Amino acid sequence: MTNLDSGPEVTPCRSAAGEGAVAEFLEPREVPLGGLRAMRVERVLPQRVLPTVGAWCFLDQFGPERVEMAVLPHPHTGLQTVTWPLAGEIRHRDSVGSDVLVRPGQLNLMTAGRGISHSEFSVREEEVPVLHALQLWVALPDEALGVEPAFEQHTELPTYEADGVTATVLMGSLGDAVSPATTYTPLLGADLVVEAGARAVLPLRPDFEHAVLVVEGEIEVAGVPVGAGPLLYLGTGRAELEITAGAGARALLLGGEPFPGELVMWWNFVGRGHDEIAQAREEWEHGDRFGHVEGHDGQRIPAPALPGVRLTPRRRG
Ligand code: MN
Repeated sequence: MTNLDSGPEVTPCRSAAGEGAVAEFLEPREVPLGGLRAMRVERVLPQRVLPTVGAWCFLDQFGPERVEMAVLPHPHTGLQTVTWPLAGEIRHRDSVGSDVLVRPGQLNLMTAGRGISHSEFSVREEEVPVLHALQLWVALPDEALGVEPAFEQHTELPTYEADGVTATVLMGSLGDAVSPATTYTPLLGADLVVEAGARAVLPLRPDFEHAVLVVEGEIEVAGVPVGAGPLLYLGTGRAELEITAGAGARALLLGGEPFPGELVMWWNFVGRGHDEIAQAREEWEHGDRFGHVEGHDGQRIPAPALPGVRLTPRRRG
């Protein structure tokens, strides 16, 4: 999916390590809907006070609602996109030749590296289907910024079972469950299905920072009640995480080593500074760096204008 905002703000990002275990709620914001009128998009990351959780630098939640998705070709650099549908199917086409259906339970991972473009459309049915999806971005570390663009679909993902919690590991590892997806930094992304009456303890890496987003129902995380909507940021320094629930629930657990160095995010690009992003924008408008997505008769999403100021990284805080 694309950043739908037609006038994207500058989002400078910088991580700060080592604040220890915390439990802090961060509210999502509704973003301008751009070409997808009537589509509810809640942006959970980045936050002004928290640009990243590990290398996770972007998290949008779409729906659930009956809506037709029609996102024309648009570019990405410096990141991996993780598309995780909870309901509905999306047709993904990209400039490395992929043309696949993205279905619930399957991990769809696109590595932009030096540059890729893609489109995402609902699958046409008699009735507009319910769409509910999470779209995440993972920032690539310096040494992977220039990797070849690639797309992976993983239909078999490992699970970690605890007492009443089934964690499907999308990226990285949880306990002995290791995702086959390609990662470039130590991180964790897991979908948690929590049964009624669950009382589970998940093993965490204390050097990671973690956060939880509930997408359905309500759970208690480390003794803190969490409902759908806000991101619960948990900080670093936790070797385990207790999760309990009265009724059933579903949640996303994110983690990773605090991202070293600085990031600048603007529109669909993640980079390290203004010039790099300005060049990517220029090459989307007037170059062939991002390849071609078949089937759209040359239609694409044009880049918004750059802001009148230079893009600079900024500390979290
Ligand atoms: Mn996209």
